[in-house]
This record gives sequence, structure tokens and C-alpha cells, in this order.
Amino acid sequence: FGTEKQKEYFLPRIVNVDDWWCEGFSEPDAGSDLASLKTRAVRDGDHYVVNGQKIWTSLAQYSDWIFCLVRTDPDAKKQLGISFLLIDLKTPGVTVRPIQLFDGYHEVCEVFFDNVRVPIENRVGEENRGWEYAKFVLGNGRVTIACVGLSKERIRRIKELAARTRIGGERLIDCADFRKKVAAVEVQLKALEMTQLRVVANSTKLQKGAQDPASSILKIKGSEIQQATAELLMDVIGPYALPYQSEDDFRRKEPPIGPEWAGPIAPAYFNGRKVPIYSGSDEIQKNIIAKAVLGLSSKSA
Ligand SMILES: Cc1cc2nc3c(=O)[nH]c(=O)nc-3n(C[C@H](O)[C@H](O)[C@H](O)COP(=O)(O)OP(=O)(O)OC[C@H]3O[C@@H](n4cnc5c(N)ncnc54)[C@H](O)[C@@H]3O)c2cc1C
Repeated sequence: FGTEKQKEYFLPRIVNVDDWWCEGFSEPDAGSDLASLKTRAVRDGDHYVVNGQKIWTSLAQYSDWIFCLVRTDPDAKKQLGISFLLIDLKTPGVTVRPIQLFDGYHEVCEVFFDNVRVPIENRVGEENRGWEYAKFVLGNGRVTIACVGLSKERIRRIKELAARTRIGGERLIDCADFRKKVAAVEVQLKALEMTQLRVVANSTKLQKGAQDPASSILKIKGSEIQQATAELLMDVIGPYALPYQSEDDFRRKEPPIGPEWAGPIAPAYFNGRKVPIYSGSDEIQKNIIAKAVLGLSSKSA
């Protein structure tokens, strides 16, 4: 959708990781109902002046640029008044504020725009057609969010650690119940991989700019499998998921309880609860599947 000039400048820098980008779509009152976004961009000569706020912007504190949805026509139907801007985060008037999460990590941020001047040449595509471009970005994103590679690696790790873990003298990897659980997830993952390959193969047959709504299936199944593998890892570490060590233990520099590899597993399990939420929650994906894949309307329910 970008101009040749935009592609020539930005694409090599993205490939080379010269620039780090973040996604400025969600706002405090526009998450699932993204088209309600209010961040306003008003034309002033050869610039837009942007005012508003984004939230849950992943890793914005490390980013150089943000691709942003902004409202350019407040009078149009909400999906039709949105444009897609590329904004340099060093522009005066941009403030990035990391949000402290309950696990201590600053994974998401608030991004504020206060009279931020953005050259019109930094708009992607046509004015007021940003919603179409955003749907394309989100659809493609959901193909990769399926995280097939990550889940394969997790299953390899689960097997490796289960081979080192003993329950009542038996290796966990040899326990029938545990093997059944791992096999069930592996079967699901294989099906996900095949579906992902089908969606990718199908993408060459789509019209330019269209995306396959089946990517929503990938997002849902991918997030279910990521949660299932995180749970299996919790099964492997068992009581070492939340070992109790008193302040005295720390003062006496007692060695940590449990194997050294157990430490990150429980925090990763809790952190993984985010997956069914970002890039459109599971409920929203189900709505997309109902409408765009199964052809159901809200009246057919
Ligand atoms: C870790 C993380 C990283 C993120 N990174 C980014 C980012 O980089 N950039 C960005 O723009 N956004 C990002 N987000 C925001 C994310 O896209 C939104 O959180 C998500 O779209 C849900 O919006 P919301 O939080 O406003 O929840 P809401 O929209 O308020 O939804 C609350 C609940 O209601 C349900 N719900 C809402 N509407 C419907 C409906 N019509 N039918 C059925 N159920 C419904 C939802 O499924 C959800 O369970 C991130 C979120 C997380 C958790």
C-alpha cells in the first residue's frame, strides 16, 4: 500500500533492523471495537497534526517508529474515517510511558501525541482507507502469532525436561498419562502447521491487499496450543513452580529450591495468558470466523 519512496526507504531498514517499529492501534476506549479510535489527525499544510493516545503498545519504549491508526474524518462512518500514518517517535510532542505489569516487566506502553506534526508523505495509502490496511496487517500478523516454531521448540523442551524428572522412581516422560497429554498437543500442533501452510499457500491466490480470514483460526488454535505447552511445562516442574524461600533463606544465601531450569517456567505460564487477548481477542476471532469463514450473520444466531 506504501509509495515506492516509502518502500525504498523503510523496507531495507526494517530487514536490517536499523529501525524498530511498534503498532499503535489500540486506545483506552478502542480495543475490540478498534474502529472507535479517537486519536485525531488534522491537516495543516503538508503535515498532519496528531493528538490523542494509544495504549498497550508493545515495546514502544525501544521503538524508533510507530505505525498508527488515526481519525482523519470524524463525520464519516467510523471505519471510513481512519488513516494509517508512520510516525517517528522522536518527533516533538510524542511521549512514551511504559506500563508496569504485575510480573514487573514493562512489555506494553502508553503513547501520547500532543500536537505531533507528521509529514503527509508519511501516510500509507489513501486518506481515510487506513481501516482496510489495518485489517491486512492484523490478518497477516495472526498467521505468525500462531507461533508454530515456538510451540515445536516448547514440546522439544518439555520432552527433554520430562526425561530428567522422576515421579516415584519413574521418568515423567515414561508416564502414560503425561505421554497422552503431550501427544494430544503434538497432534493439534501438526494440524495447526498444516492449516498455516494452507493459509500461506492460499495467500498468493488472493486479490492484492486481501487477507484470508482463516488466519483467525490460526490465532485461536495457536494461542490454545501455547497455553497447553505452558501448562505441560508447569506439570513438569510440579512443586518447583512456586518454591517458598524465606527471607532468612535469602540472607543465608541458601541455594534456590529445585532445578535451575525451573525458575522462568511459572512466570512464562502467567505471561502467556496475554496470547488470547492481543492482536484481537479469541472472542473477536470467533466473530470473524462466524462472519467471514462460515458466512453467518449476527441474525443467524
Ligand atoms: C500483551 C499485549 C500486547 C499488546 N500489544 C499491542 C500493540 O502492540 N499494539 C496495539 O495496538 N494493541 C496491543 N494490545 C492491545 C490488544 O489488541 C487489545 O487488548 C485487544 O484488542 C482487546 O482490547 P481491550 O483490551 O480494549 O479489551 P475489550 O475490547 O474491552 O474487551 C474485553 C473483553 O470483552 C470481549 N469482547 C469485546 N467485544 C466483544 C464482542 N463484540 N463479542 C464478544 N466478546 C467481546 C473481549 O473478547 C474481551 O474478553 C496488546 C494487548 C496485550 C494484552
